[in-house]
Amino acid sequence: AVVVAGAVGALSEVMGDLARAAGATERLFDLLATEPEIRAPADPKPLPRPAEGAVRFDNVVFHYPSRPRDAALNGLELEVRPGETVALVGPSGAGKSTVFQLLLRFYDPRSGRILLDGVDIREADPAEVRARIGIVPQDPVIFSTNAMENIRYGRPEASDAEVREAARAAHALDFLEALPQGFDTFLGEKGVRLSGGQRQRVAIARALLRNPPLLLLDEATSALDAESERAVQEALEDLMKDRTTLIIAHRLATVLNADRIVVLDAGRVVASGTHAELLRQEGLYARLAALQFDQRTAGAAVV
Ligand code: ADP
Ligand code: MG
Repeated sequence: AVVVAGAVGALSEVMGDLARAAGATERLFDLLATEPEIRAPADPKPLPRPAEGAVRFDNVVFHYPSRPRDAALNGLELEVRPGETVALVGPSGAGKSTVFQLLLRFYDPRSGRILLDGVDIREADPAEVRARIGIVPQDPVIFSTNAMENIRYGRPEASDAEVREAARAAHALDFLEALPQGFDTFLGEKGVRLSGGQRQRVAIARALLRNPPLLLLDEATSALDAESERAVQEALEDLMKDRTTLIIAHRLATVLNADRIVVLDAGRVVASGTHAELLRQEGLYARLAALQFDQRTAGAAVV
């Protein structure tokens, strides 16, 4: 409990930082729901079952409270169908991370609506909304506890066997078992420091344990070592299978695999389509693709 309280303290200082927010679990989310910006409805509308993870942003305008004159989202229209993988791309400041923050209901729009499985998320219980969402952040938080508990944060009631199975599916089992005390090894500030790729696989294991219908993924911008790169890519492909996925994409391999790419600029959608379609338009996407994507990971698929 001490670890959770510490993490929430750090979290409130940097509410704008999704990388940290995404280390959160249901328990962290519950605490975050007490943030003054969010008002939970007295009589919340239940989300439909079974969960599908369908998302719709309907003409969403949003300004961060500290910057009331600047629209972070400026009439955003975005629909993600159940099971679809959508890659969000756009220049820095376009509003990509803000899309995630609003979906998690850290803030509410100034106007417009955000629907999850057809329900306006302002009318739902924030805990129920967040329970349908899994996050894999750019730079996942590793708590000062052992490997087993670090993964179990994804679902506190999970058994040891379930944690190990999630680690296996996340391609994390080999390196965790090779630690000095295996799953009992202390990680974080007071323990073994994991590499970037290993931290990501821990975050993927947490998300797999939660088994959410909607997955939000913020790809790492920094290069991983080649072995981690391949392991992370494979783990993500498994994680994305059979669920709705929204990815802030930095890698060419990711956009090539997405069902659809949505290009954001200045808080709105400026183009949408496949990689080939968007390249043909010779617009913002073509310029971004030339400059921004990490080409190394696409291998022979590069055209
Ligand atoms: P992206 O993820 O595409 O780089 P963001 O969603 O982070 O873009 O940012 C969209 C806009 O909102 C930018 O103008 C950015 O400066 C601003 N912004 C982002 N986070 C905050 C925040 N916590 N407080 C105030 N302004 C913010
Ligand atoms: Mg961002």
